[in-house]
Amino acid sequence: MIEILLAHAQIIWNMSALLKDRVWVMLSEVAKRGVYPLHGSRLGIFRIPVEITELSDTTAIINSLKSSGFKIDSYADRIYVTDRWIETGVDAITQKDVEANLEITVEIVTGDVVDIIYQIKPVEYFGDHYWIKNYRQKTDGRAKVIIDTIIWNSKIGDKLLDHYKKSQKLSTEDSIKKLDELTPLKKKPVPRDPALAQDAKSQVNLSQPKIQTDTPSITPPPQAPPAMTGGDTTISLTGTGDSYSKIEGPIDPEFKSKRQVTGAFQGIKVWGPVDPPGQLGIWGTEVTVDFDICVADGACIEACPVNVYEWLDTPGHPASEKKPFMIREKDCIFCMACENVCPPQCVKIFQKGQ
Ligand code: SF4
Ligand code: SF4
Repeated sequence: MIEILLAHAQIIWNMSALLKDRVWVMLSEVAKRGVYPLHGSRLGIFRIPVEITELSDTTAIINSLKSSGFKIDSYADRIYVTDRWIETGVDAITQKDVEANLEITVEIVTGDVVDIIYQIKPVEYFGDHYWIKNYRQKTDGRAKVIIDTIIWNSKIGDKLLDHYKKSQKLSTEDSIKKLDELTPLKKKPVPRDPALAQDAKSQVNLSQPKIQTDTPSITPPPQAPPAMTGGDTTISLTGTGDSYSKIEGPIDPEFKSKRQVTGAFQGIKVWGPVDPPGQLGIWGTEVTVDFDICVADGACIEACPVNVYEWLDTPGHPASEKKPFMIREKDCIFCMACENVCPPQCVKIFQKGQ
Protein backbone atom coordinates (compact mmCIF):
# COMPACT_ATOMS: atom_id res chain seq x y z
CA MET A 1 0.00 0.00 0.00
CA ILE A 2 2.78 2.42 0.97
CA GLU A 3 4.55 1.64 -2.31
CA ILE A 4 1.37 2.45 -4.24
CA LEU A 5 0.98 5.76 -2.41
CA LEU A 6 4.63 6.64 -2.99
CA ALA A 7 4.30 5.80 -6.69
CA HIS A 8 1.20 7.95 -6.92
CA ALA A 9 2.95 10.83 -5.16
CA GLN A 10 5.86 10.51 -7.58
CA ILE A 11 3.51 10.76 -10.57
CA ILE A 12 1.93 13.91 -9.12
CA TRP A 13 5.37 15.34 -8.40
CA ASN A 14 6.38 14.76 -12.00
CA MET A 15 3.38 16.59 -13.41
CA SER A 16 3.42 20.28 -14.16
CA ALA A 17 1.75 22.52 -11.64
CA LEU A 18 -0.25 23.82 -14.57
CA LEU A 19 -2.14 20.57 -14.75
CA LYS A 20 -4.69 21.76 -12.22
CA ASP A 21 -5.58 24.67 -14.52
CA ARG A 22 -6.18 22.53 -17.57
CA VAL A 23 -9.42 22.99 -19.45
CA TRP A 24 -10.69 19.91 -21.23
CA VAL A 25 -13.85 21.41 -22.68
CA MET A 26 -14.35 23.92 -25.42
CA LEU A 27 -15.09 27.41 -24.20
CA SER A 28 -17.10 29.51 -26.59
CA GLU A 29 -14.60 32.36 -26.63
CA VAL A 30 -11.84 29.89 -27.40
CA ALA A 31 -13.85 28.33 -30.21
CA LYS A 32 -14.36 31.80 -31.65
CA ARG A 33 -10.60 32.19 -31.81
CA GLY A 34 -10.41 29.20 -34.13
CA VAL A 35 -9.35 26.49 -31.72
CA TYR A 36 -11.05 23.21 -32.53
CA PRO A 37 -10.23 19.70 -31.35
CA LEU A 38 -9.26 17.22 -34.02
CA HIS A 39 -11.53 14.22 -34.28
CA GLY A 40 -10.55 11.67 -31.65
CA SER A 41 -7.94 13.97 -30.12
CA ARG A 42 -7.63 15.04 -26.55
CA LEU A 43 -7.48 18.77 -26.06
CA GLY A 44 -5.73 20.75 -23.34
CA ILE A 45 -6.07 24.53 -23.12
CA PHE A 46 -4.36 26.94 -20.75
CA ARG A 47 -5.26 30.59 -20.77
CA ILE A 48 -2.44 32.91 -19.67
CA PRO A 49 -3.55 36.42 -18.66
CA VAL A 50 -0.98 38.33 -20.69
CA GLU A 51 -1.27 40.25 -23.94
CA ILE A 52 0.89 39.33 -26.93
CA THR A 53 -0.24 41.39 -29.90
CA GLU A 54 2.99 42.93 -31.23
CA LEU A 55 4.93 41.19 -33.94
CA SER A 56 8.12 42.03 -32.09
CA ASP A 57 6.83 40.07 -29.07
CA THR A 58 6.00 37.07 -31.25
CA THR A 59 9.46 37.23 -32.80
CA ALA A 60 11.04 37.40 -29.34
CA ILE A 61 9.08 34.32 -28.21
CA ILE A 62 10.16 32.38 -31.27
CA ASN A 63 13.79 33.35 -30.76
CA SER A 64 13.74 32.46 -27.10
CA LEU A 65 12.51 28.94 -27.89
CA LYS A 66 15.00 28.24 -30.67
CA SER A 67 17.58 26.86 -28.24
CA SER A 68 15.10 24.58 -26.50
CA GLY A 69 15.55 21.74 -28.99
CA PHE A 70 11.92 21.89 -30.07
CA LYS A 71 10.84 22.49 -33.66
CA ILE A 72 9.34 25.96 -33.99
CA ASP A 73 6.91 27.10 -36.68
CA SER A 74 4.68 30.13 -36.87
CA TYR A 75 1.74 31.28 -38.89
CA ALA A 76 -0.17 34.56 -38.45
CA ASP A 77 -0.88 34.93 -34.71
CA ARG A 78 0.14 31.36 -33.85
CA ILE A 79 3.40 29.75 -32.82
CA TYR A 80 3.74 25.97 -32.99
CA VAL A 81 6.25 24.19 -30.76
CA THR A 82 6.77 20.51 -31.56
CA ASP A 83 8.62 17.82 -29.63
CA ARG A 84 9.57 14.74 -31.63
CA TRP A 85 10.86 11.55 -30.13
CA ILE A 86 11.42 7.91 -30.93
CA GLU A 87 9.60 5.37 -28.81
CA THR A 88 11.24 1.94 -28.63
CA GLY A 89 9.89 -1.41 -27.49
CA VAL A 90 9.52 -5.09 -28.29
CA ASP A 91 6.72 -6.46 -30.45
CA ALA A 92 4.80 -8.95 -28.29
CA ILE A 93 4.09 -11.23 -31.26
CA THR A 94 7.33 -11.20 -33.25
CA GLN A 95 9.61 -10.44 -30.26
CA LYS A 96 11.50 -8.03 -32.51
CA ASP A 97 12.75 -4.62 -31.45
CA VAL A 98 10.43 -1.94 -32.80
CA GLU A 99 10.37 1.82 -32.80
CA ALA A 100 7.92 4.59 -33.59
CA ASN A 101 8.39 8.25 -34.49
CA LEU A 102 6.00 10.26 -32.36
CA GLU A 103 5.38 13.94 -31.85
CA ILE A 104 3.29 16.39 -29.89
CA THR A 105 2.68 19.99 -30.91
CA VAL A 106 1.81 22.80 -28.53
CA GLU A 107 0.16 25.79 -30.14
CA ILE A 108 0.51 29.32 -28.75
CA VAL A 109 -2.41 31.49 -29.81
CA THR A 110 -1.47 35.12 -29.21
CA GLY A 111 -3.83 38.02 -28.68
CA ASP A 112 -5.37 39.97 -25.82
CA VAL A 113 -4.73 36.82 -23.78
CA VAL A 114 -2.47 33.91 -24.66
CA ASP A 115 -3.96 30.45 -25.08
CA ILE A 116 -1.59 27.51 -24.97
CA ILE A 117 -3.16 24.46 -26.55
CA TYR A 118 -2.22 20.92 -27.38
CA GLN A 119 -4.05 18.04 -28.90
CA ILE A 120 -2.96 14.47 -28.29
CA LYS A 121 -3.59 12.63 -31.53
CA PRO A 122 -4.73 9.01 -31.42
CA VAL A 123 -1.68 6.75 -31.54
CA GLU A 124 -3.05 5.26 -34.77
CA TYR A 125 -2.18 8.55 -36.43
CA PHE A 126 1.48 7.48 -36.35
CA GLY A 127 0.95 3.90 -37.54
CA ASP A 128 0.02 0.52 -36.14
CA HIS A 129 1.96 0.91 -32.90
CA TYR A 130 -0.21 -1.21 -30.63
CA TRP A 131 2.89 -2.14 -28.60
CA ILE A 132 3.34 1.39 -27.19
CA LYS A 133 2.43 1.53 -23.52
CA ASN A 134 1.05 4.61 -21.74
CA TYR A 135 1.08 6.62 -24.96
CA ARG A 136 -1.29 9.33 -23.73
CA GLN A 137 0.44 9.72 -20.39
CA LYS A 138 3.86 10.03 -22.04
CA THR A 139 2.59 12.50 -24.63
CA ASP A 140 0.80 14.52 -22.01
CA GLY A 141 4.03 14.73 -20.01
CA ARG A 142 6.00 15.91 -23.02
CA ALA A 143 3.39 18.57 -23.75
CA LYS A 144 3.78 19.76 -20.17
CA VAL A 145 7.55 20.06 -20.61
CA ILE A 146 7.00 22.20 -23.71
CA ILE A 147 4.45 24.42 -21.96
CA ASP A 148 6.59 24.95 -18.87
CA THR A 149 9.57 25.79 -21.10
CA ILE A 150 7.51 28.25 -23.15
CA ILE A 151 6.26 30.05 -20.08
CA TRP A 152 9.55 30.24 -18.19
CA ASN A 153 11.91 30.89 -21.08
CA SER A 154 9.96 33.37 -23.17
CA LYS A 155 8.42 36.80 -23.03
CA ILE A 156 5.19 35.17 -21.90
CA GLY A 157 6.96 34.52 -18.60
CA ASP A 158 8.24 38.09 -18.51
CA LYS A 159 4.72 39.38 -18.89
CA LEU A 160 3.30 36.89 -16.41
CA LEU A 161 5.78 38.14 -13.81
CA ASP A 162 4.61 41.65 -14.49
CA HIS A 163 1.02 40.47 -14.14
CA TYR A 164 1.77 38.88 -10.74
CA LYS A 165 3.40 42.06 -9.54
CA LYS A 166 0.59 44.32 -10.67
CA SER A 167 -2.52 42.23 -10.03
CA GLN A 168 -1.37 40.23 -7.01
CA LYS A 169 1.00 42.86 -5.57
CA LEU A 170 3.81 40.32 -5.32
CA SER A 171 7.42 41.35 -4.98
CA THR A 172 9.80 40.54 -7.82
CA GLU A 173 11.28 37.69 -5.78
CA ASP A 174 7.87 36.22 -4.96
CA SER A 175 6.71 36.60 -8.56
CA ILE A 176 9.73 34.66 -9.81
CA LYS A 177 9.21 32.02 -7.11
CA LYS A 178 5.58 31.64 -8.16
CA LEU A 179 6.54 31.34 -11.83
CA ASP A 180 9.22 28.81 -10.90
CA GLU A 181 6.69 26.70 -9.00
CA LEU A 182 4.26 26.93 -11.89
CA THR A 183 6.78 25.54 -14.39
CA PRO A 184 8.67 22.69 -12.69
CA LEU A 185 9.23 20.79 -15.96
CA LYS A 186 10.93 23.61 -17.87
CA LYS A 187 13.80 22.60 -20.10
CA LYS A 188 17.08 24.57 -20.32
CA PRO A 189 15.69 27.32 -18.06
CA VAL A 190 17.06 30.79 -18.59
CA PRO A 191 18.23 32.50 -15.39
CA ARG A 192 15.85 34.98 -13.84
CA ASP A 193 17.76 37.15 -11.43
CA PRO A 194 15.40 39.00 -9.06
CA ALA A 195 17.89 41.84 -8.81
CA LEU A 196 17.54 42.55 -12.49
CA ALA A 197 13.88 41.76 -12.99
CA GLN A 198 12.51 45.10 -11.90
CA ASP A 199 10.11 45.54 -14.75
CA ALA A 200 8.92 43.80 -17.86
CA LYS A 201 11.51 45.49 -20.04
CA SER A 202 14.46 44.56 -17.88
CA GLN A 203 13.14 41.01 -17.69
CA VAL A 204 13.23 40.81 -21.48
CA ASN A 205 16.79 41.99 -21.47
CA LEU A 206 17.54 39.52 -18.72
CA SER A 207 16.46 36.48 -20.67
CA GLN A 208 17.43 37.37 -24.19
CA PRO A 209 21.25 37.39 -23.95
CA LYS A 210 21.11 33.73 -22.92
CA ILE A 211 19.23 32.74 -26.05
CA GLN A 212 21.03 30.81 -28.72
CA THR A 213 19.35 31.18 -32.06
CA ASP A 214 20.03 29.55 -35.39
CA THR A 215 18.42 32.46 -37.19
CA PRO A 216 21.15 35.08 -37.07
CA SER A 217 19.21 37.42 -39.31
CA ILE A 218 16.80 38.27 -36.51
CA THR A 219 19.32 38.30 -33.68
CA PRO A 220 20.16 41.76 -32.46
CA PRO A 221 23.82 42.46 -33.05
CA PRO A 222 25.80 42.78 -29.81
CA GLN A 223 26.37 46.42 -30.61
CA ALA A 224 24.87 48.51 -33.32
CA PRO A 225 27.49 49.26 -35.95
CA PRO A 226 28.48 52.88 -36.10
CA ALA A 227 26.20 54.94 -38.28
CA MET A 228 27.56 55.78 -41.69
CA THR A 229 28.13 59.46 -41.99
CA GLY A 230 29.89 59.54 -45.32
CA GLY A 231 26.84 59.19 -47.59
CA ASP A 232 25.51 61.98 -49.76
CA THR A 233 23.81 64.80 -47.87
CA THR A 234 21.95 67.36 -49.90
CA ILE A 235 18.99 67.87 -47.56
CA SER A 236 19.26 70.42 -44.76
CA LEU A 237 17.28 70.23 -41.53
CA THR A 238 17.22 73.97 -41.09
CA GLY A 239 15.59 76.68 -43.15
CA THR A 240 12.64 79.06 -43.26
CA GLY A 241 9.71 76.64 -43.69
CA ASP A 242 7.85 77.34 -40.48
CA SER A 243 4.25 77.69 -41.64
CA TYR A 244 3.37 74.02 -41.47
CA SER A 245 1.27 72.14 -38.92
CA LYS A 246 1.30 68.53 -37.88
CA ILE A 247 -0.42 66.18 -40.35
CA GLU A 248 -2.26 62.93 -39.61
CA GLY A 249 -1.28 59.43 -40.74
CA PRO A 250 -1.17 57.04 -42.33
CA ILE A 251 1.72 57.32 -44.75
CA ASP A 252 0.62 57.20 -48.39
CA PRO A 253 1.64 53.69 -49.54
CA GLU A 254 1.72 54.94 -53.15
CA PHE A 255 4.07 57.82 -52.43
CA LYS A 256 6.84 56.48 -54.65
CA SER A 257 4.69 56.98 -57.73
CA LYS A 258 3.44 60.36 -56.57
CA ARG A 259 6.56 62.04 -55.16
CA GLN A 260 10.04 62.78 -56.41
CA VAL A 261 13.34 62.08 -54.68
CA THR A 262 14.51 65.58 -53.84
CA GLY A 263 17.77 64.74 -52.15
CA ALA A 264 19.54 62.57 -49.62
CA PHE A 265 20.70 62.69 -46.03
CA GLN A 266 23.81 60.62 -45.28
CA GLY A 267 22.97 58.49 -48.31
CA ILE A 268 19.31 57.93 -47.36
CA LYS A 269 16.83 59.12 -50.00
CA VAL A 270 14.34 61.87 -49.13
CA TRP A 271 11.08 62.16 -51.05
CA GLY A 272 9.69 65.71 -51.27
CA PRO A 273 8.23 68.16 -50.94
CA VAL A 274 10.77 69.31 -48.37
CA ASP A 275 10.79 72.75 -46.75
CA PRO A 276 12.74 72.53 -43.49
CA PRO A 277 12.32 72.70 -40.63
CA GLY A 278 8.48 72.47 -40.88
CA GLN A 279 8.17 70.05 -43.79
CA LEU A 280 10.62 67.14 -44.08
CA GLY A 281 8.98 64.68 -46.51
CA ILE A 282 9.26 60.90 -46.54
CA TRP A 283 12.64 59.32 -45.82
CA GLY A 284 14.07 55.99 -46.98
CA THR A 285 13.79 53.52 -49.83
CA GLU A 286 12.90 50.19 -48.20
CA VAL A 287 12.43 51.40 -44.64
CA THR A 288 10.36 54.52 -45.17
CA VAL A 289 9.00 56.96 -42.61
CA ASP A 290 6.85 60.00 -43.26
CA PHE A 291 8.70 62.49 -41.07
CA ASP A 292 5.81 64.96 -41.36
CA ILE A 293 3.53 62.51 -39.50
CA CYS A 294 5.97 60.96 -37.00
CA VAL A 295 5.33 61.94 -33.39
CA ALA A 296 8.61 60.45 -32.07
CA ASP A 297 7.20 58.04 -29.51
CA GLY A 298 10.10 55.69 -30.31
CA ALA A 299 8.02 52.52 -30.77
CA CYS A 300 9.74 51.68 -34.06
CA ILE A 301 13.23 52.10 -32.58
CA GLU A 302 12.31 49.87 -29.66
CA ALA A 303 10.71 47.23 -31.88
CA CYS A 304 13.50 46.92 -34.45
CA PRO A 305 15.53 43.78 -33.70
CA VAL A 306 18.51 44.85 -35.82
CA ASN A 307 18.92 48.52 -34.87
CA VAL A 308 18.07 50.03 -38.21
CA TYR A 309 17.08 53.35 -36.68
CA GLU A 310 18.67 56.02 -34.59
CA TRP A 311 17.28 59.35 -33.47
CA LEU A 312 17.84 62.41 -35.62
CA ASP A 313 17.14 65.85 -34.15
CA THR A 314 14.67 67.87 -36.20
CA PRO A 315 14.15 71.10 -34.20
CA GLY A 316 11.25 73.19 -35.34
CA HIS A 317 9.16 70.38 -36.84
CA PRO A 318 5.47 70.70 -35.81
CA ALA A 319 4.87 66.96 -35.19
CA SER A 320 8.04 66.19 -33.21
CA GLU A 321 11.54 67.52 -32.85
CA LYS A 322 13.31 64.23 -33.46
CA LYS A 323 12.73 61.42 -35.96
CA PRO A 324 13.74 57.76 -36.36
CA PHE A 325 16.48 57.96 -38.98
CA MET A 326 16.86 54.65 -40.87
CA ILE A 327 20.62 54.99 -41.11
CA ARG A 328 21.16 51.20 -41.19
CA GLU A 329 18.37 50.64 -43.71
CA LYS A 330 20.44 47.96 -45.47
CA ASP A 331 20.31 45.81 -42.32
CA CYS A 332 16.49 45.57 -42.42
CA ILE A 333 15.22 42.00 -42.29
CA PHE A 334 11.66 43.00 -43.22
CA CYS A 335 10.13 41.68 -40.04
CA MET A 336 7.54 44.49 -40.25
CA ALA A 337 7.70 45.11 -36.52
CA CYS A 338 8.23 48.86 -36.87
CA GLU A 339 5.41 49.22 -39.39
CA ASN A 340 3.05 47.34 -37.12
CA VAL A 341 3.83 49.27 -33.93
CA CYS A 342 3.75 52.81 -35.27
CA PRO A 343 0.74 54.59 -33.68
CA PRO A 344 0.09 57.12 -36.50
CA GLN A 345 1.04 54.50 -39.14
CA CYS A 346 3.74 56.60 -40.72
CA VAL A 347 6.12 53.68 -41.41
CA LYS A 348 5.98 51.68 -44.64
CA ILE A 349 8.36 48.80 -45.34
CA PHE A 350 9.09 47.88 -48.94
CA GLN A 351 10.67 44.52 -49.61
CA LYS A 352 13.57 44.74 -52.05
CA GLY A 353 12.29 45.39 -55.56
CA GLN A 354 8.93 46.78 -54.44
S1 SF4 B 1 13.41 48.45 -39.86
FE1 SF4 B 1 13.23 46.44 -40.80
S2 SF4 B 1 14.15 45.05 -39.32
FE2 SF4 B 1 13.72 46.96 -38.23
S3 SF4 B 1 11.71 46.63 -37.34
FE3 SF4 B 1 11.39 47.65 -39.31
S4 SF4 B 1 11.04 45.97 -40.75
FE4 SF4 B 1 11.96 45.06 -38.91
S1 SF4 C 1 6.73 54.45 -34.27
FE1 SF4 C 1 6.03 55.90 -35.84
S2 SF4 C 1 5.51 57.77 -34.70
FE2 SF4 C 1 6.74 56.49 -33.32
S3 SF4 C 1 8.85 57.21 -33.65
FE3 SF4 C 1 8.55 55.50 -35.04
S4 SF4 C 1 7.90 56.44 -36.97
FE4 SF4 C 1 7.65 57.98 -35.37
